Amino acid sequence: MQKRLILHIDMNSYFATCEQQANPFLRGKVVGVVAYMSPNGCIIASSKEAKKLGIKTGCLVKDAKKLCPEVVLIENEPAKYRSTTERIFNIFSDYTDRIEPYSIDEAFLDLTGYIKSWEQGEKITQEIKERIKAEVGEWLTSSCGLSWTRFLAKFASDICPKDSYLIIDSIPKMEQVFNSVKITEAWGIKTATERHLNRLGIFTLMDLKRHPVANLMQSFGKPGYYLWANANGIEIEGVRTQEELLPKSIGHSYCIPKQTNDPKYLSGILMKLCEKTGRRLRESNLQARGITAGYSLKYGGGFWQSHKTEDPLFTTQDIFKAAYKLIEPNWPQGKVYMLAVSVTRLQRFSGQLNLFYSPRQKNLTLALDKINDKFGEYTICSGTMWGTQDNAPDRVGFRKSVFIEEKKSAFTYE
Ligand SMILES: [Mg+2]
Repeated sequence: MQKRLILHIDMNSYFATCEQQANPFLRGKVVGVVAYMSPNGCIIASSKEAKKLGIKTGCLVKDAKKLCPEVVLIENEPAKYRSTTERIFNIFSDYTDRIEPYSIDEAFLDLTGYIKSWEQGEKITQEIKERIKAEVGEWLTSSCGLSWTRFLAKFASDICPKDSYLIIDSIPKMEQVFNSVKITEAWGIKTATERHLNRLGIFTLMDLKRHPVANLMQSFGKPGYYLWANANGIEIEGVRTQEELLPKSIGHSYCIPKQTNDPKYLSGILMKLCEKTGRRLRESNLQARGITAGYSLKYGGGFWQSHKTEDPLFTTQDIFKAAYKLIEPNWPQGKVYMLAVSVTRLQRFSGQLNLFYSPRQKNLTLALDKINDKFGEYTICSGTMWGTQDNAPDRVGFRKSVFIEEKKSAFTYE
């Protein structure tokens, strides 16, 4: 079988570098990008200068200041990073149609068929790195990996020095690289997996490569096969384009412990479901153009309706309004035992919401997501949700509540 040619590109210290690109005064300085300004806030991205001093992602602002009192803190500006990403990805599209956007600063490019040799691949790698600097911003550096599987390409870009590239073009080269790094440097092998592997007598990537696949599968299940295949240069999933990656829908349903048709109580639950749905939508950097909402009644029957929306849904408020609009005219007459909401017709978040959409509302939503990510679900929530907290028994650990039935979407992000 002909080998594929897959290039993985990872921008270095992305958010901080975007800030340094936008403001030359910050270049060469210790920069920490924060979700919001507060001594208890945390650094969500640090510049390469900051990393050298040990200021990493997740570091508290007050600890960063101890490490470097001169650290320059900047509140994050997602729109800036997204527009930079768009310009970088535009360059990628000159080389292939098969691009998998892996995160805001990473992508896989399937160059199979577009180029014929590793030498050509190397030339293109250098060219893309240069074009990002020349056409998007001179301060923007990237690490690239070129190989024949998705795993090896990402592995190569992960382990090569910043602002450089590594090509793994053959099994001997792969083995040479495997021998030069620790097993936890491989993509997806964290310390817990390492301990598990150690118990099987696997300490290096070469041990993993040589280990009988049946043993690995017995001990890890299906992921055991993935570990083995990755270490043997066997492709598992290949590059998946944006469209192939999109889930069909994202949604949540809730079986209500206190069965009722009390509008205040039900709106509160609905708001929670919209919040959970919205969080997942935004985490995946998606927006929706459709909504489905409804309820089931205790003694049979219920109401379900879907609606295509003209404007994209992105914030929790958007989703709640759309869901409420469907349910409100058909308010349940009897006791409701289940409420559900899902967003459909998903697409990549364009950043261009409708004309009357306030960017502040969008930024506020993203900021609240970050706070809730750090301090726990519903640290900050809407007034409607607040009202439900006395009623709902799951104020803490809504996520873990046994009443929650998660409707699994077609695709779960890694
Ligand atoms: Mg990166």
